[in-house]
Amino acid sequence: MIKPKELISIIIPCYNEEAVINICHKAVSDVIDTLDYNFEIIYINDGSSDSTHQLLEKIHEQDARSVIISFSRNFGKEAAMTAGIDNARGDALIILDADLQDPPALIPDMLHMWKETGADVVYGQRLEREGETWFKKFTSNGFYKVINFIANNVEIPKNTGDFRLMNRRSIDALVQLRERHRFMKGLFAWIGFKQVALQYNREPRAAGETKWNYLQLWNLALEGIAGFSTKPLRVASLFGLLISIASFIFAIFIIFKTMIFGAEVEGWASLSVMISFLSGIQLLTIGILGEYIGRIFGEAKNRPLYFIDSFIKK
Ligand code: UDP
Ligand code: MG
Repeated sequence: MIKPKELISIIIPCYNEEAVINICHKAVSDVIDTLDYNFEIIYINDGSSDSTHQLLEKIHEQDARSVIISFSRNFGKEAAMTAGIDNARGDALIILDADLQDPPALIPDMLHMWKETGADVVYGQRLEREGETWFKKFTSNGFYKVINFIANNVEIPKNTGDFRLMNRRSIDALVQLRERHRFMKGLFAWIGFKQVALQYNREPRAAGETKWNYLQLWNLALEGIAGFSTKPLRVASLFGLLISIASFIFAIFIIFKTMIFGAEVEGWASLSVMISFLSGIQLLTIGILGEYIGRIFGEAKNRPLYFIDSFIKK
């Protein structure tokens, strides 16, 4: 009996990608046409306000392998990837960016590495960051250092994005993680299994513009830290303890000083320094508490991760 060809789901989140979506489909098709697998290409239109949806409909008319999932509004790349992963029917899936920064030419290498190593996950690891400023490289490096120092139970590989292949059992594992605050790099690592790196050079965007600014990157970093670690809370209580001990020693010192030298009006400078220092620490710890309470609030509402406006499939 001939073994049926395996099905690979390619997942491509798209948000306002009219400039690049046709180039993307062509590039992906050219590569997968040469391969001995069956494919489905799942495009997730993440509430684009440009003509991305119309272009995707055209793509679907010409290519029966494509599946178009359109969201009711913009839910963010994490939700878009999740919708793709939820709806993938393949024996494995590959996540790609629409802007071709994750080169489709690597799809054969990924599949090859998957078969060769028997790994559950093959993740792309960037060698160079072309077209990125030194500041972005510096902050990104710092981020991986901090997150891996601080995160409980996960080791997030460096310079790794969402570009990856996952086999059926790792997909099934990931689908079970329904948390609303989705720090995907963390979730991908958290599921465990055998994961291997495929190193590659990340291309500059083929066309269009990046949707990330520094404020969003800062939020993403916070998401990662607060979503995968409770250490900041512990640091806050440690601060409290240290300051209490110091204050106690200082109080004893003042009592003796007053007993020996008598009370006099002085010390306002140290007093104001202490008050502002303590107010700072208090606001910081309230802020840390707030980060976690905000997350509890988000999870407690238990809302769906996305709403689908239309689902186009042959
Ligand atoms: N994206 C998305 N929803 C968003 C923002 C981005 O689906 O709210 C998609 C986008 O269309 C692209 C991928 O996520 O396919 C990566 O986005 P981008 O190129 O802007 O990010 P960068 O490569 O600069 O990290
Ligand atoms: Mg990009």
